[in-house]
Amino acid sequence: MKFPSRKTTLWSTAVAALIGYGAWIWWYEGEARRVALADLERHAAVVAPALWHLDPAMCRDYLQLAASSKGYQYLRVEDETGTPFVTCQGQPLGGMDVVLHRLGLIPAVSFQRPVVHEKDVLGRIVGVWYVRTVYAEVLALCGLIVGLVLLERHLQVREMRDRLQGQVEDRTRELAAAHAALAAREAQYRSSVEQSPDLFCRFTADGTLTYVNPAYCRFFGRNPDELVGSRFLSFIPEEDRAPVESVLRARLRPDMEPLTLDHRVRAADGELRWIRWTNSAIRDDQGRFLEYQAIGHDITEQKRAEMDLVRSHELYRRAISAAAAVPYEIDLVEDRYLFVGEGIRSLTGYAPDELAPRELWNLAEEIVFLGACAGLNLQEAFQRLTAGRLEQWRADYRLRTRAGEIRWISDTAVPTLTENGQVRGMLGILLDITDRRRMEEEHARLAAAVESVDEAVFVTDLQGVILYANPALERVTGYDRNEVIGRTPRIFKSGKHPQAFYLQMWATIREGRSWTGRVTNRRKDGRLYEAELTISPVRDGSGRLTYYVAVSRDITQQLALEEQLRESQKLEAIGRLAAGVAHEFNNLLTIIQGNALLMDRDALSPEDATCVDQIVHATQRAADLTHRLLLYSRKKPMQMRAVDPGDLLLRGARMLEPLLGERIRLRLHLGKDLPVLRADPALLEQLLINLAANARDAMPDGGELFVSAEVCELSERDRMNRPMAGLGRYIRLTIRDTGVGIPPEHIPHLFEPFFTTKDVGKGTGLGLAAVYGIVQQHRGWIEVESQVGGGTTFRIHLPVAEESQPAPPTELEVRDLPRGGEGVLVVEDEPSLRRLTETLLQRCGYRVWSASDAREAHKVWEQHRAEIQLLLTDLVLPGGSSGADLAAQFAAQKPELKVLFTSGYFEAQFHGALNLIEGDNFLPKPYRPRQLAEMIRARLDRGR
Ligand code: ADP
Ligand code: MG
Repeated sequence: MKFPSRKTTLWSTAVAALIGYGAWIWWYEGEARRVALADLERHAAVVAPALWHLDPAMCRDYLQLAASSKGYQYLRVEDETGTPFVTCQGQPLGGMDVVLHRLGLIPAVSFQRPVVHEKDVLGRIVGVWYVRTVYAEVLALCGLIVGLVLLERHLQVREMRDRLQGQVEDRTRELAAAHAALAAREAQYRSSVEQSPDLFCRFTADGTLTYVNPAYCRFFGRNPDELVGSRFLSFIPEEDRAPVESVLRARLRPDMEPLTLDHRVRAADGELRWIRWTNSAIRDDQGRFLEYQAIGHDITEQKRAEMDLVRSHELYRRAISAAAAVPYEIDLVEDRYLFVGEGIRSLTGYAPDELAPRELWNLAEEIVFLGACAGLNLQEAFQRLTAGRLEQWRADYRLRTRAGEIRWISDTAVPTLTENGQVRGMLGILLDITDRRRMEEEHARLAAAVESVDEAVFVTDLQGVILYANPALERVTGYDRNEVIGRTPRIFKSGKHPQAFYLQMWATIREGRSWTGRVTNRRKDGRLYEAELTISPVRDGSGRLTYYVAVSRDITQQLALEEQLRESQKLEAIGRLAAGVAHEFNNLLTIIQGNALLMDRDALSPEDATCVDQIVHATQRAADLTHRLLLYSRKKPMQMRAVDPGDLLLRGARMLEPLLGERIRLRLHLGKDLPVLRADPALLEQLLINLAANARDAMPDGGELFVSAEVCELSERDRMNRPMAGLGRYIRLTIRDTGVGIPPEHIPHLFEPFFTTKDVGKGTGLGLAAVYGIVQQHRGWIEVESQVGGGTTFRIHLPVAEESQPAPPTELEVRDLPRGGEGVLVVEDEPSLRRLTETLLQRCGYRVWSASDAREAHKVWEQHRAEIQLLLTDLVLPGGSSGADLAAQFAAQKPELKVLFTSGYFEAQFHGALNLIEGDNFLPKPYRPRQLAEMIRARLDRGR
């Protein structure tokens, strides 16, 4: 049964007691009032007659008695109007009663009672009465409290008993459970000991075994019966036994702390194995010592690993110090070395404690990142490292050591991490790579040099297998570099040298000497080239032959140029010789011809006259020859001017047609927008005629002559072939025939004077010599290409003139000068020249006025201004005036006036101011009549 709790019981008992108490009070008061009223009733019954029939004094005495004995406060008799006539005071309250009254515990009850006498209401009795119930009340309250206290005590006791009973039950249950758990644990423990792979034994203080587990038995290869009772020390190899025994003797105590001991034992298979024993004392429940136990764990592998670790650590340490490497570990958070090898001092000049990691970076004048951080700068690499995005830090630093030396240091490091995977620092190795770096730089310089030289360079091993070839080799041989590597230089063999040649070469270099010589090699495309080859043996540090280095220079071009030079020197010499002869010869001819002409023909017989005619005729031909010789030797004065090559060829073609005859077709091809040539048109004309004449002779049965002109830019290759040629643009004239061709052996002699294959009287051998001379004089060159039976091609290169406008076209007929009917004023102070000019211009049809100075010129101008269309004036005039002034004054009056200036010498001041252009508005003195006539005509025609 469930008891209500102590609190509930107490509260309900208290409430019930209070209600009971209240009811009792109520009843007790009511009872007291009732008694008082009954008493008053009695008094009234006494008082009324006494009052009215006896005397009031008696009444008062009665009342007085009643009041004092019954606890009234007062009793009063009033008449009908309320006027009191008898009043009696009761017993006043004293002592504790006053306090109780104030607290309301002694209430005052008032009452009225009419006094009736024979149905007449005489007055009334009024009373106030103390109800003295308090003592009973207090008593009841005390009883209540006592009751409550007793109840409380009772309840407490009951509760305690219940609790104790519960506790006893719980404890009993717990004990039962603990007992069960203990049993289970013991079973578990036993089985774990039995099944444990670790060795387990118990033994007494003298080392006698009292228990061994199966693992122990297996390990030592005995059964438990053999082991129990024996001493375990016998398993320890003799040499180890003494120290183990002494430790055990010292430390095995009943009150010992667990003791760990590593030692070797001999296992069942006879092998010595390391066991880590944990020894401890076993006690019973009361803490009494029973015996010792030991748990043994086979740590042979661990020991071996430890020993390996120690050995490898030692190996690493020795390797690192042998490599002059400085290992280090940095704490980046605190910016300090956790550890740094002593070698840092020889590397940087600073002791380990003088250097913070960041200071090492500050010392670096250059940092080159490699590997994963290649191309980064320090800050970027550092950020990557600390963000955990860099697995390996590889950088080379160029440092200045404390002593001011420059060192290259390679730094290879990995980040180290905190437990939560944050990068904490770096673990790495510093290596001095100054020497390596220097060698690399040197190697790079050498390699760059070898790669960029013009000579073909290759390196072979001792068997001649090519290991390296430079780019120039590709250029010279036409083989790709990768094609030749791994092959031997036999691929360059041309077959032009006897076997002995190569044998001698190999013999020389095998002896360790250099070989230099000229070889003819074959390019990949089959073409041959001449090379100057030097093969040098290379020895290693110990003097053994290791490689051969071959340097070969292509000298084909050089040989060709040398040949060219010889050729031109030869022609030059012949030219000088020819010129000398021609000059002398000319003089002789003049004498012969002059004397022949001086002879009085009338005095001669007709036969003699014929002889003289033949002399004159022969000298004429001889003069012609010398003329051509002089052309060749370039001793004839030239008349250079700007010439339009197209124009030249068109006019030339007209002239060539009759020369070639009907059976030879002339084909002309002109390139577009041909620039102007600076040339003597008469000489070029001569050149065309000579070449065309040869072509005609080469095509007796007819054929085709192709003549073309085009502009060409001088290529680098051309320049190599023509060292004398200037850079820039050239006009290429091509003259090709379909004739018999020229045998190769004749070609070197073609341009020599008097070289001819033609019959006597037919050929002079001067045609091509003259062509050569003319081309040379124009600072150009000529090439010939021919095949026997396949025609001949001559190519002539002439430099393009600076000016862009050709001079006005001229008549090719020598005798006819240009003509005109315009008026010309000639101002010239030299009288003979003035007269000559005057006559010449008149012959050409012009109306001519002349003046010897400015004053005279003005006079003529006044009279004939209208007719004068051109002013020809010397720049320098007598009397201080100049031709330029004159021209300006006249031009002001007649703007359309044409002006042509002449001068005996170059007038720098005029040249700039007047924009004098030779051949346009300026005619330098001395001029020839033809030049003058042509310029006058050109000047007048300009602008029309
Ligand atoms: P010539 O014509 O008087 O013999 P050249 O100097 O003009 O003298 O020519 C020299 C030689 O060159 C000629 O005799 C001829 O054998 C050869 N020759 C020149 N031009 C040609 C050509 N177009 N075709 C074949 N052979 C030529
Ligand atoms: Mg000829």
